[in-house]
Amino acid sequence: MESQEQVAPASPDHTRFTHCLELIKQRTKGPVFETWFQKLELISLDETAIRIGTLNQFVKQWIEEGELLPLLEKAASEAFGRPLKAALVVKPRPQASPDSGTASVASAPSAAGTVTTTTSLASDGSRTPTGTTTPRPRGRLEPDSIVQLKDEYAFENYVVGPSNRFAHAAALAVVKNPGRDYNPLFIHSNVGLGKTHLLQAICHELVAREPHPRILYLSCEEFVNRFVTALSNHALETFRSKHRSMDVLVIDDIHFLADKRQIQEEFFHTFNALYNAQKQIILSSDSHPSEIPTLEERLVSRFNSGLVAKIEPPPFETRAAIIKKKALSRGCDLSDDVVQLLAQRIDSNIREIEGALNRLIGTASLTNTRIDREFASQVLRDLLGDDGGAVPLHEIADVVCGKLRVKLTDIQSKRRTKKVAFARHIAMFVARNVTEHTLAEIGSHFGGKDHTTVLYAIEKIGGEAERNPETRALIEEIQREARGRRGPR
Ligand code: ADP
Ligand code: MG
Repeated sequence: MESQEQVAPASPDHTRFTHCLELIKQRTKGPVFETWFQKLELISLDETAIRIGTLNQFVKQWIEEGELLPLLEKAASEAFGRPLKAALVVKPRPQASPDSGTASVASAPSAAGTVTTTTSLASDGSRTPTGTTTPRPRGRLEPDSIVQLKDEYAFENYVVGPSNRFAHAAALAVVKNPGRDYNPLFIHSNVGLGKTHLLQAICHELVAREPHPRILYLSCEEFVNRFVTALSNHALETFRSKHRSMDVLVIDDIHFLADKRQIQEEFFHTFNALYNAQKQIILSSDSHPSEIPTLEERLVSRFNSGLVAKIEPPPFETRAAIIKKKALSRGCDLSDDVVQLLAQRIDSNIREIEGALNRLIGTASLTNTRIDREFASQVLRDLLGDDGGAVPLHEIADVVCGKLRVKLTDIQSKRRTKKVAFARHIAMFVARNVTEHTLAEIGSHFGGKDHTTVLYAIEKIGGEAERNPETRALIEEIQREARGRRGPR
């Protein structure tokens, strides 16, 4: 590799590399190409290997650890007409100019556990001008921010699983290089799945930095209110210059711009001013930019131009990990069977899980009762109503067979054709998520397998769901349908 020569720009090899990227573009779906491949650069080439530059470590890792490397190597081999192994390297970036804003000073995220203080908006909101040496003990949001950062919403309290791994990695990438590679960062999900937590986690990391970047954090509703007030007070200029002088602008729940034409216009200009100055913009929303009703096309395209990350509803294992962690942070070490019961009964919204947990811990402490499965079950029944009993395994089998067009007798047999094995693995995965059966029981129901096969299936399908949104959607659909077939209690 060392002997490889740097490929001159505009050489035939560059043309072939462009062709390689074209091939990848044709072979990928959704935003995969724009997110991971578009900005790759050819660095050097020899008979058997190609060196490719990536924007940052995040992209390098994602390509190497996902299933994207074979795709890249295949396209490169085709474009160059010989088998090539690919090696990715992070391209060195030009130094940020000293006056380009404090937020663009790159440094690694601080170690987990360092952000433990509540950011206070109280007294001194003034900012030490860059260049003076007066230290500030800790960072804070700009005093105009509407929220106070919650201690709990830090990265170390965020449980990462297949449903949020991408959004989490994207948030870390923004922390590392605000205003540079992923601007804007746009995180979307249904309610209660951790958008605000991630937004605040980013802020926690950034405000802990020296020198402190100016971070304004607003709910979209507040942005709208302020605009309306400024408009009626003839104070638009002040409104504008305030927002446009930030290093980082965070707007939570940007979908609130729906149906508000004039404010969309205003936000468009704010966005452009910040973007052009390489300031980081971070947005959250309940839907993808293109699904926000009546959002102007130019805003949709701006929002899409950075990194759009979706958070999916968490699978069983992630829900269980979150419950365990939240309970521990409330000083309560729940036993595994109670954790599983909670994760079982509340399957979509984490805020709801938290509500149930608070209720459980609160009731236990009031009545001085130990939290065991029975007690938890009782409290949850009061809270959520009767769930009508468990989903029978044969119903899961039935739903899977209907969706994947395989025969019931096949998935319960030992047949191993690809299609049948896939359906069986999906059924095992779903059974683990929506029932309380043991691995051994699940295995014996689906083809007389032992618990290690079930574990393997869970891991395999979990991995696929992580990489492939279609698999995720399929699983969600099957789970929804299966839950609709709960048996009598
Ligand atoms: P959203 O903004 O998407 O509506 P929030 O960020 O307010 O959701 O999250 C709701 C609750 O769930 C918060 O208490 C948050 O800490 C918690 N939560 C969500 N996702 C996670 C996670 N992955 N790990 C730990 N807690 C989480
Ligand atoms: Mg929120």
